[in-house]
Amino acid sequence: MAISFHDLSKMTRTARDQLLKRAEADLTEFEEKVKPIIHAVRHEGDAAVARFARQFDKAPVEADALAATEADFARAEKTLDPKVKEALAFMATNIRKFHEDQKPEEMWFHEIRPGVFAGDRTTAIPSVACYIPRGKGAFPSSVLMQSIPAHVAGVKEICIITPPGPDGHIDDATLVAARMAGVSRVFKAGGAQGIAAVAYGTATIPKCAKVVGPGSPWVGAAKRLCSHVIDVGTPAGPSELIVLADDTADGRLAGLDLIIESEHGPDSSAFLVTWSRKVAEDAMQAIPEFWKQMGEQRVAYSSAVLGGPMGGIVLARDEAEAIAFCNDYAPEHLGVHSDEPFQYLGRLENAGEILLGRHTPPTLGNFTIGVNHVLPTSGWAKTGSPLTVHDFMKRTSVAYVTAKGYPELARHGEVIARYEGFDGHANAVSETRARLLRTNK
Ligand code: NAD
Repeated sequence: MAISFHDLSKMTRTARDQLLKRAEADLTEFEEKVKPIIHAVRHEGDAAVARFARQFDKAPVEADALAATEADFARAEKTLDPKVKEALAFMATNIRKFHEDQKPEEMWFHEIRPGVFAGDRTTAIPSVACYIPRGKGAFPSSVLMQSIPAHVAGVKEICIITPPGPDGHIDDATLVAARMAGVSRVFKAGGAQGIAAVAYGTATIPKCAKVVGPGSPWVGAAKRLCSHVIDVGTPAGPSELIVLADDTADGRLAGLDLIIESEHGPDSSAFLVTWSRKVAEDAMQAIPEFWKQMGEQRVAYSSAVLGGPMGGIVLARDEAEAIAFCNDYAPEHLGVHSDEPFQYLGRLENAGEILLGRHTPPTLGNFTIGVNHVLPTSGWAKTGSPLTVHDFMKRTSVAYVTAKGYPELARHGEVIARYEGFDGHANAVSETRARLLRTNK
């Protein structure tokens, strides 16, 4: 199981551009396949959702049993290992604290010139669906990462959609985490059928204003196709990581961290970027040793990523070339391995999250620090942000002009209105209004 080695000094521009590509760059092929799924859910509702669960998730699910029941929650509560419950509760506390600190003031309203007041009011969106992936594992952590900020924002209707397991049940920890986050509407609806269900609504599953959460390309393609009826937020697709290591880094630790996002699936991307040949060689040597401590499936995913074109070691000529590569790539997660990690922070422009130093591995970012692990992928970190409390809120401009502030604004407003050819706009602030205001008195 060889690890890919990419030497930037020996690469053509085209080969370097190729390294920046992600699995999800082209969803066209998936879009064609999910179109009939969306169509079926739109027209048949719950029956189609259940049928696709049987087909894709191999789960014995019936159309009248898509919602988690009280008995499901009770069973999950009873069965789940108390240690997992304790860890989830610990996570929930930190996630809540982080997102409460992030929550904006409800309103700002300033006098921006004499007699003219304006500001923004920030309020919660009415409803949201949180997508929790299940294909390659269970993600109770994602339940907390999505529904706690929604709850902190004040969203009234929060629901969770997730594929059922082969036993037809929702993952126990997902149900326990949902309750911890204050969510009791959880539905067995994964993949494109789940997205279509919350975009259009079915008899059981509510139509929502927004859907958040990561997912497979099936989920990504369905979000794109439903984006005219539901807000789909920033894309969050297959996981990706760059570990940026300087010559003070321990190559073995860098290699250990590199494996983290590569074990998500064969469509993940993970690069160790360094200008230290020693760090590169130490990581290269250590990674196969670490694979020996992992399960077969995770090794298969990790070795496919690190041995393929979307992963491995990238050797740069120097610090500037390494940082330029990170900025062009705009990774979802960026770990910085150095004795002095803060020295790079100002130059790292594009990343969903930046984790500084050897004690801050992505494991802690993903689970326990409290920062959100739903992050922009596929280069969207150039313009997008992590999932935040702001994603569950919207701003409304609010303005108030007094009699004192009015004349000057009206005079200039009328000029621009006439220039743009809007007679109605102009009349509304001309003599006509002056007369109306006079008569009112
Ligand atoms: P998933 O729930 O997103 O996808 C599984 C679903 O895809 C199935 O339920 C099924 O409905 C659908 N599907 C599967 N095969 C299909 C087919 N042939 N035709 C139509 N639909 C089909 O779970 P997953 O597969 O584990 O993917 C999760 C993804 O999310 C991974 O790529 C992982 O890297 C990513 N992820 C990202 C983050 C993040 O924060 N960006 C966090 C966790 C996971």
